Amino acid sequence: MSSYLKGLKCRECGKDYPKEALHVCELCFGPLEVNYEYEGIKKVLTREVIEKRPPNMWRYRELLPIDGDPSVGAQVGFTPLIRAHNLGRVLGVKELYLKNDAVNFPTLSFKDRVVSVAISRAREMGFKIIACASTGNLANSVAANAAACGMESYVFIPYDLEHSKILGTQIYGANVVGIRGTYDEVNRLCSEVAGKYGWAFVNINIRPYYAEGSKTFGYEIAEQLGWKLPKHIVVPMAGGSLITKISKAFNEFHKLGLVDGDRVDTRIYGAQAAGCSPIVNAVKEGTELIRPVRPNTIAKSLAIGNPADGYYSVKTITGSGGWAENVTDEEIISAMKLLAETEGVFAETAGGVTLGSAKKLIEQGRIPKDESIVICITGNGLKTQEALHGKLGEIDVINSKLAEFDELVNANGKVYAVKA
Ligand SMILES: *Cc1c(COP(=O)(O)O)cnc(C)c1O
Ligand SMILES: [Zn+2]
Repeated sequence: MSSYLKGLKCRECGKDYPKEALHVCELCFGPLEVNYEYEGIKKVLTREVIEKRPPNMWRYRELLPIDGDPSVGAQVGFTPLIRAHNLGRVLGVKELYLKNDAVNFPTLSFKDRVVSVAISRAREMGFKIIACASTGNLANSVAANAAACGMESYVFIPYDLEHSKILGTQIYGANVVGIRGTYDEVNRLCSEVAGKYGWAFVNINIRPYYAEGSKTFGYEIAEQLGWKLPKHIVVPMAGGSLITKISKAFNEFHKLGLVDGDRVDTRIYGAQAAGCSPIVNAVKEGTELIRPVRPNTIAKSLAIGNPADGYYSVKTITGSGGWAENVTDEEIISAMKLLAETEGVFAETAGGVTLGSAKKLIEQGRIPKDESIVICITGNGLKTQEALHGKLGEIDVINSKLAEFDELVNANGKVYAVKA
């Protein structure tokens, strides 16, 4: 397969760079972004070609930044887009969907998309050690995918993450380093380590390639809606990369003629936890300047106080005519319960943030009730169980005696037909 990866380009001043392990512009310090030969892609990438390929994220291979074949993550992506009738009824909206990366392979979050691109690219560039600064899900994914392709990995995390996120990183044999500090402090240390040790930090020195993997989340939504874009999409934000890449995905599909409609008119909404909402604050205050915060929320996967792509997230949201909203820890938990009880989907705390924020935006009338809405579920509830401890009440415990069960049923006040 031929490659359409042209090089890197500064997002601010437009200076071109070769396709190497670079991430900031030496002239203006702007972030670098991957550039493709869209003319060539347009000739080969049709709906029919994509539809014939296996159901994974590599069906959009021409739009991903690697030169050869992917060397890891062959089964990542093409997660379900669920038509959420029950939840839609509760929220009073007509056409609601969940894009469900809680069941993404292999580590149950959308991070497997970015990591399989980053590791494939890092190997092409000759890196031997793969590393990351993580709020949890990235740690799981780097550790698993590195193991799958026989690479050594170093994973840096805030030491006080959820147990399942730590355990679910260690199990793959990764070198896990817990840092006494917030994610932002972990990230600062990792920038220094990357400079000194020369390892491939997926979300730092090879970030331009890594971030492109998130586009597949957007491509799949468009394809699964029957080659159409949704009118509204609600996206959780940590560093703010996913939301900008969903926007890029929709724009690319439009430019390539892969979706119906003569322009991209999807309104994009950002969601954060009230205990860490630097991007939401900026949108509400009408500024593109991000004021960093010190995170304090149960949504640890989204707890980035100084988001790398915060500025671009604000531009993406306001430029699309969307808005942003945040929710308290209590609201996160009730949204997690609502999602599970209506649709049978157990999302992590980030899912509670997204649904809780979507609910507010619908109630406020910011999202109309009669147009298509996609809610992005990005991680799995089994990984953040601490957040629910003591929140769901006690289960009923009885001896294995029918009389005790009868008593329980009567106490619950429910009437069942009993066989004569
Ligand atoms: C990392 C993450 C996000 C957000 O990612 P950014 O691209 O940094 O904004 C959303 N949800 C979950 C579950 C994540 O782990
Ligand atoms: Zn520049």
